[in-house]
Amino acid sequence: MVPNKKILVVEDEVAIRDMLRFALQASGFDVEELAEASQVVEIAGQMGPDVILMDWMLPDISGIQAIEALRKSNVTKSIPIIMLTAKGDEQDQVRGLDSGADDYVVKPFSPRALVSRINAVLRRQPTNAEAVELTEDELCQGRIKIDFMGHRVLVDDKEVKLGPKEFQILSYMMKRPDRVFSRAQLLEQVWDSGVIVEDRTVDVHIRRLRKQLEDCGVQDYVQTVRGAGYRFSVIEE
Ligand code: CA
Repeated sequence: MVPNKKILVVEDEVAIRDMLRFALQASGFDVEELAEASQVVEIAGQMGPDVILMDWMLPDISGIQAIEALRKSNVTKSIPIIMLTAKGDEQDQVRGLDSGADDYVVKPFSPRALVSRINAVLRRQPTNAEAVELTEDELCQGRIKIDFMGHRVLVDDKEVKLGPKEFQILSYMMKRPDRVFSRAQLLEQVWDSGVIVEDRTVDVHIRRLRKQLEDCGVQDYVQTVRGAGYRFSVIEE
């Protein structure tokens, strides 16, 4: 029998912890809980969770500081982390992504949506596999296929014309599905480093990309994560 995947929930609000435990156990996960984050590196190191759900506002150290500490330890640095946060300060949320969170779920969220995001993070290939994918000729996610040799994007085998930046943004995100990228991260990856572009330039190209995908009905694969950035996911929000 395959053992259940283990989730470590770091959340100070009892009501949210109860809701999470109930929903996660109902989906077949084992759940451990922490109400504060100062011991998280040690506890995660002993427990070896498959995913950590990290609240942002905690009574002792912040979720961000906790993530930074987890990323520094060799034992815990590769554990996927999903941040849970109330709609808040946009700057701070972007910091959350830059500190090393894999995905972001904004409160209030439906338990079902959260479980989908956990499963998506669990399915993700390890980081060292990403480099291998870069050399592949083709990449498929959901109904979209990218043919790198022909520099073409196909939806259900029908070609969709994309601009060069839209093609790059889509390829970059499709190679790393279910992961949230801040505008700054996308800028760094897709634009030349010498060029100064504003964050909102990314929004403009994302909007254009969605428009181009709309004719084939796959625009919802390119998702806005409120206050944080963008992700590619074939899982509906
Ligand atoms: Ca909290």
